[in-house]
Formats: sequence, structure tokens, C-alpha cells
Amino acid sequence: MNYAIPPAEQVSLAVEGSDNRFPVRRIYCVGRNYRAHAIEMGADPDREPPFFFMKPTDAIVENGTTITYPPQTENLHHEIELVVAIGTGGAAIPVADALTHVWGYAVGIDLTRRDIQNEAKKMGRPWDMGKGFDQSAPCTALRPVSEVGHPDTKDSKSIWIKVNGEIKQESTLDLHIWSTAETISYLSSLVALEPGDLIYMGTPEGVAAVMPGDIMEGHIDGVGDLSITIARA
Ligand code: MN
Repeated sequence: MNYAIPPAEQVSLAVEGSDNRFPVRRIYCVGRNYRAHAIEMGADPDREPPFFFMKPTDAIVENGTTITYPPQTENLHHEIELVVAIGTGGAAIPVADALTHVWGYAVGIDLTRRDIQNEAKKMGRPWDMGKGFDQSAPCTALRPVSEVGHPDTKDSKSIWIKVNGEIKQESTLDLHIWSTAETISYLSSLVALEPGDLIYMGTPEGVAAVMPGDIMEGHIDGVGDLSITIARA
């Protein structure tokens, strides 16, 4: 086939301990999946079923990258999150089968232009420009389920992020309001999942602004460590 312009490159993530790369299809994100974060965002954690938004696939940033502070914001926030990689597609997946669709896990940051997102909320407009901007989806290499198991089904796996060495968010994966299995099941009732889809599972409390020159270091027990630097202005 001849294309009128060169097609975009396939976005992919490294796989820990392998030369194979994981091709990324879509990036789904869960909103407000920790009670204390829902409360800090002014929402009622008890009345909401899970909801989703998306980032463009090429928003992925690999571990160790220095990113540019994005335009049109004065309030760029970190949100440390477990990332689920789908290996087997499906629609209307029962909760009991959902984890068999997972290929692996990673550590991600859902970078957010909070000022743009807050304005969108106020106006009843889409979140896309607050959430889906360039370089808004840092993510570590993936680790396959065969190595790492299913981290949010084991007790109290720690998740945290430091900015310039100072802890900003710290929680555990068992505090997800919606588990990985429940989230996959619910999301697959809305859209068919396909191999290569990623799900950012939502962030705990403590989201805060980062500035040019800051270093963000994220961690999830048994899953990985992420380091992203924001270039100086
Ligand atoms: Mn998030």
C-alpha cells in the first residue's frame, strides 16, 4: 500500500528482561479510583461507578526521559498509577475471567494539566486537553504476569511517588475502589478491549504540582521504578 504521507510509527513499550517490545493500541484511564483522592478532588467516593477517559497512544513517554513542561498550564500535576497491559482482547468480560486477559503491569504517571481539567469540569466540557496532551503518559517497561503475578490482588503492595526526593503520594494497591479485575470487566462492557490496550488504574491522594527542573520518581512494589525529569525552562 502507498500512503499519501508516511504513517505514524507504532508506539511501544519496553519489556523488562526482553528485547521484545509491547505495541500499544489504546490508553484508557480510570478516574477517581482511590477514596482519599476522590475526596481531595471534591467528589463523593461512595456514589460513583468507575468512569474512564483516554489519552492518545503517542502520549507515552519511556522511563528515564526528560520531558518538556507542557504549554498552556501553570498547574501540572503528577498522578502515580498502576498500569495494566491487556494481552487478550474481549467484550463483556466477566470479573472472574478478567485477569486472564492481562499480559503484564507497569508503573505510570497520569500527568494532568489540572487548571485546564478544572476549567473543563466547571464548564461541563471534555477533559481531553487537561489529560491527553503530548508526553502526558510516562510508563516503565512492562513486566509480564508470569513474573509479577497480579499486584493488586496481593496484600498491601506499596505505591508511591517522590518529587526531588520528597514523598508526595503514598498508598497501597488494595485501596483501589475498583480492582483490576472489576475495572477490566466494567471497561469491556463499554468497549471491546484488544491486545495492546493499557489501563491507568487511578491515583491515590496527594496529587500536587511539579515545576521545570523537578525529578519525579515513582515506585510500585514488585512492578518497577519510574524516573522522569522535567526539563528546565
Ligand atoms: Mn489519573
